[in-house]
Amino acid sequence: MIRKLAFCAILALALVGCDNEEEQILALKNEGKVLQQRVDSLRAELSKTQEVPVKWNIVNDTVRAGDGLFQVLNRMNINASERGKIVLAMQDSVELSSMKVGQVFYAAKDSSGSVQRFRYATNPATVHMLTRVDTNYVYNRVEKPVVRKLSIYEGTLAPGGTLNGTLLKVGIPRRMAGVVGGVLQCKVAFSQAQPGDRFRILLEDTFYQDSIWISGKVVYAEFEGRTVGHHEAFRYDDGDPKSSFNAHYTENGEALIFDGLRYPLDRLHITSPFGSRIHPITGQRKTHHGIDYGSPTGTPIYAVAEGTVTVSGYDEFSGNKIAIRHRDNSESWYMHMSVRGVSVGTHVAARQVIGKVGSTGRSTGPHLHLGFKNEKGAWINPASKTMIAAPKLTGERLARLKQQVAVARSQIEKTLAAPAVKANDSTEVMVRMIKL
Ligand SMILES: [Zn+2]
Repeated sequence: MIRKLAFCAILALALVGCDNEEEQILALKNEGKVLQQRVDSLRAELSKTQEVPVKWNIVNDTVRAGDGLFQVLNRMNINASERGKIVLAMQDSVELSSMKVGQVFYAAKDSSGSVQRFRYATNPATVHMLTRVDTNYVYNRVEKPVVRKLSIYEGTLAPGGTLNGTLLKVGIPRRMAGVVGGVLQCKVAFSQAQPGDRFRILLEDTFYQDSIWISGKVVYAEFEGRTVGHHEAFRYDDGDPKSSFNAHYTENGEALIFDGLRYPLDRLHITSPFGSRIHPITGQRKTHHGIDYGSPTGTPIYAVAEGTVTVSGYDEFSGNKIAIRHRDNSESWYMHMSVRGVSVGTHVAARQVIGKVGSTGRSTGPHLHLGFKNEKGAWINPASKTMIAAPKLTGERLARLKQQVAVARSQIEKTLAAPAVKANDSTEVMVRMIKL
C-alpha cells in the first residue's frame, strides 16, 4: 500500500504541464505534502497493528451456581498448566472463595491458544488483570472511580413492629439489616423493646457511575428505648480490609459480636473455604473439612477460645497440628504449623499464641488450616460459629476507634442537615442522604 502511494506521487509529478510553472509547483508541493501525510499515517497504523495482535481470540465465561474457578477455566478451554498458573497468580490478591454467580471471566488467547491476558471484575469498579510475561502471569488491579453516599434512616417502632422488620420494609438489604440487628442485640434486649422506641442508622453506600450499587456498610447504629436504654454501635476499620479487627464496637471499644469465638489470625485471607469443592488445578472433588487462611510462615496463631490442648503432634498430612478442647466439648484444630508452641494438657486462654503458620505436611504453601469438631466429633464449618477478633480494642486500636467515632459523629451531623424524605409509603421512617 505504501509503495503504491509513492508510485502515484511520482506519476503525478511526471504528468505536470508547464503553463503556470510556479503555481503548479506549489500545487504539486502541497499534493506531495498531503501524500506524505497519508504515507506517515499509514505507517503509524501499520506499526500499531504490529503492537496489538489482531489474531488474539477473546473468550469469556460466566460463573454459574456451584462453580469454582476450575469449572470456569475449564469451560474456557484453558489448559491445565495455564489454569494452575492463573489460579496461583490470582489467589494471593483476590478472594476467589467469594466468586458470585453472573460474574464474567475474560481471557485473550494468542493464535496458539495460550492465554496472554486474563480479566476478572469482582464488581463494576474493581478489575483484576493478569498479563503473561514469559511463562508466568503478572497481577494488576484496576480501580475505577466510585461515588460514596451517606444515608441516615430514622424512625420508631410501630405497635407490634420489630427493628429488623421495619428496616426490611424500608428496603434496606437483608444483609445490612442483619448487621444492625446483630450488633445491637449484644446490648439491646429486643424482647423488651416497645412501640415508640427510636432508632437511627447511618449507612455508607458505594456506587459506580453514580447509580450502580457496589457495596454498603453500616457505619453507625443507635437504639433508644424506654426500658432497654440507649445504645450505640460504631463500625471500626483497622486499615486493612482483611484485618480480623474490622467489626462493630461500642464507643469504648467493646466488641459487638454475639457469643463469639476469636479469630486464629490477625489478618484473614481465605484461600479455601469449608465444604465440597473441586480442586482448582487438579479438578478432583473432595470435601475440605476446614478453612484455609493464606498467611506468611511465622505469623502467630491464636487459640480461638479458652480450653485445654488435647493434641500437639505431627503427621504427614496435617504436618504440625494442635487441637484444643473447649468448655462446650467442641474442639478447634490448627494444622500445617511451622512451630507448635503448646503441649498436651496445657490450659490456654482465648487469643493466646499457640504456634506459628507454616507449610508442614501435605501443603502447597504457607497457610493455616483451621478445623472445628462439634461435641460429637464431627467436622463443622468454623465460619458457622460467629468469630470475633478481640472482646475489647486496646492501645493504638482503641485510639484509632476514637478517631473514627469522631468522624462518624460529624458525618451524622452533616447528613442530618440534608432534607428528610419519607423512605417509603409503608413506614414512617425518614431518610436523609448526602454525597461524601
Ligand atoms: Zn485445608
